[in-house]
Amino acid sequence: MILHKHFDVNAEGHLTIGGMDSVELAKKHGTPLYIIDENALRTQCRIYREAARKYFGEDALPLYASKALCFTGIYKIAAEEGMGIDCVSGGELYTAKKAGFPAERIYFHGNNKTDKDISDAMDMGVGTFVVDNNDELSAVSREATRRGITQRILLRITPGIDPHTHRAIVTGNVDSKFGSAIETGQAMEIVKKAIDTEGVCLAGLHCHIGSQIFDIEPFADAAAIMTQFIAKIKKECDFEIKELNLGGGLGVRYTEYDREIDYADCICKIAKVVTELCKKNGIAQPRIILEPGRSLVAAAGATLYTVGSVKEITGFRNYVSVDGGMPDNPRYALYQSQYTALIANKASEPKTYRATIAGRCCESGDLLGENMELQKAERGDILAVLVTGAYNYSMASNYNRIPRPPVVMIKDGKDRVAVKRETYEDIVRNDV
Ligand SMILES: *Cc1c(COP(=O)(O)O)cnc(C)c1O
Repeated sequence: MILHKHFDVNAEGHLTIGGMDSVELAKKHGTPLYIIDENALRTQCRIYREAARKYFGEDALPLYASKALCFTGIYKIAAEEGMGIDCVSGGELYTAKKAGFPAERIYFHGNNKTDKDISDAMDMGVGTFVVDNNDELSAVSREATRRGITQRILLRITPGIDPHTHRAIVTGNVDSKFGSAIETGQAMEIVKKAIDTEGVCLAGLHCHIGSQIFDIEPFADAAAIMTQFIAKIKKECDFEIKELNLGGGLGVRYTEYDREIDYADCICKIAKVVTELCKKNGIAQPRIILEPGRSLVAAAGATLYTVGSVKEITGFRNYVSVDGGMPDNPRYALYQSQYTALIANKASEPKTYRATIAGRCCESGDLLGENMELQKAERGDILAVLVTGAYNYSMASNYNRIPRPPVVMIKDGKDRVAVKRETYEDIVRNDV
C-alpha cells in the first residue's frame, strides 16, 4: 500500500491502481493520463451517505461538490450512490442535465449567478438555490415571481471561522467574497428580507468554512455559531430554519505527512456536537446537508506522465521534466500543494533520488513539486502523481495549446475512457 489501499506494487515492481498495472494503462491510453479508481470513489460516497444517515438521521443528504471533478460519468455515479450534488455554474448544471441527474437533488451555488444562470437553472427545475447575497436574492425573486413559481433557497452565511488552513482557500471569514456574515449583522438582515421576499421559500442556511481541514474543532465551532444563529432567528422572527448545510472541507491524505482520516468517525463527532447544540439552543435539529468534494474523489485519482529530459545542475538541483504540468495540474503553481510522486515502472525500488518535477510549459513556475523523493528517473520512465482526483481535471487548461488528457475510469480490472483525450482539432474548434 502506498498512502491509500488502492495504490500498491505488483510482482513486476509496477505501481498498481485498483489492482491494475499503471505502466500498462499508460501504454494503452498514452500520457499524460488521468486515472480514477471507481471503486475507491464509490466507497467514499457510501461512507459519507451511510454515516450521514446513521448519525444525523434518515433525511441527511451528502452532496457531491462537483467543482472537484466534473464530467457526465461522475454525475451518473453520484446519482447511483444516492447523493445530491452542488453545482456552481451553468456549465456544471448543463453537464448534470446531460447526465440525467435528478434536478431536485441539485443545489445551485456561486457568488455571482448571472440572470441567464438563474433562468436556465429554473428551466431545469433545480431543487435549491444557495443564495449568496442581497443582490442575488432580489434577482432570484424577480425571476421566480415572473414565472409564478416559488424557488426553494438556502442563504449562504459566513460564520467567521479560521479553519487553520491555507489562506488562499479560506472562505469562512468575515471578509470573503462568499456569503453574508453573522458578525456584521448582514446575515440577520438577509434572513429577515428572505422571509418576506416573494417567489422564494427560505428552507435553511449554508456555510462552508474552507478546505483540507483535518480537525473536528472548526466544524464544531461553525456548527455552534450556526445553531445559535438559528435559535436567534426563531426568537427574533418566529421562523424555523429547517435545513442546515455544513459545507465540505474534510482533508485528504496527499503525502505521508498528512494524517489518515476516519471520515465516518468525523461525521459521528460533528453530529454529536450538532445534536447537543440544538438541544442547548432550544431548537429542533434541522435536516443536515454535507458537501464533500475533495474527500470523495481526490484519493481515487492518479496522473501518469512520461519522463522526458532529466537535468542535473550540480550544486543546485535535479529537474525531471514530464509531458504534462500546470495545464493538467495547476495546484502546485497556485498554492504549492504537496503531492506524492513515484516512478511507476520502478515502484519497488527505493526512493534515493531528489528532484523538482517540471512540466512542459514555457513558465518557470510550471512545477508539480520541488524537493520530491523519487526513484532514479530516466527518459521514458512513467512518473505517477498520486491523489490527483480532485481539482486537477476540473482545473485543467489548454495553456500553451496543450490538449487536456483523457480521464480513464477503472473498476474490477477493467478500464474505460470516461473523457476522451482532446485533439489539436479540438484546440482550434472555436477559432474563426
Ligand atoms: C469547494 C466547496 C466545497 C467542497 O470543498 P472540499 O474541500 O472539496 O470538500 C463544498 N461547498 C462549497 C460551497 C465549496 O465552495
